[in-house]
Amino acid sequence: MIYDLSPLISARLQVWPGDTPPSRHILLDMKQGQHITLSTLQTTVHLGAHADAPNHYGVHAPAIHEQNLELYLGPCQLIRVPIARGECLLPDMVKVKINTPRVLLATDSYPDPEHFNEDFAALTPQLVESLFDQGVQLIGIDAPSVDLFGSKELPVHQTFLKTGIAILEGLVMKDIPEGTYELIALPLKLEGFDASPVRAVLRTL
Ligand SMILES: [Zn+2]
Repeated sequence: MIYDLSPLISARLQVWPGDTPPSRHILLDMKQGQHITLSTLQTTVHLGAHADAPNHYGVHAPAIHEQNLELYLGPCQLIRVPIARGECLLPDMVKVKINTPRVLLATDSYPDPEHFNEDFAALTPQLVESLFDQGVQLIGIDAPSVDLFGSKELPVHQTFLKTGIAILEGLVMKDIPEGTYELIALPLKLEGFDASPVRAVLRTL
């Protein structure tokens, strides 16, 4: 069985304020009598469920095409972490024993991908360091950022840079049961880019 963690990509899908929303430009259309349908997508790469590349938050860090694909593929735990809007997750709030290299944290603090709420919950550098010490190489969340909305220093992103842990953001994890799955969330091979949309799924083992 497969759980789909990617929101629908449409003009209604919200992106970070000021970023480029997705739009489709139709060049040819069979409904208009043309021999094929052909369209162009314009969008931020931080679109819906996406993988951030380290060069998004580190000036000389790897781009998305340089990321090791093994990070995005393999055993993964989904953990529900009840937390109030606008709060930050500390290590002792994750009560489940970690036994896979990939962890998805469902905060339920960003419930509707078609409505951008700025008061989503975030991670802390302490939590990222604690998960790193437990062998974690990828962390995914159901919010648009691992830092709080108003953060400019981005201390959590900086901890990801330091530890080399990969980031997935914008996952939809409503109603998906806690447990251990196989994660499949491969980024596109976009040269030099700072992120890539992914089709993120969890497959039951
Ligand atoms: Zn991002």
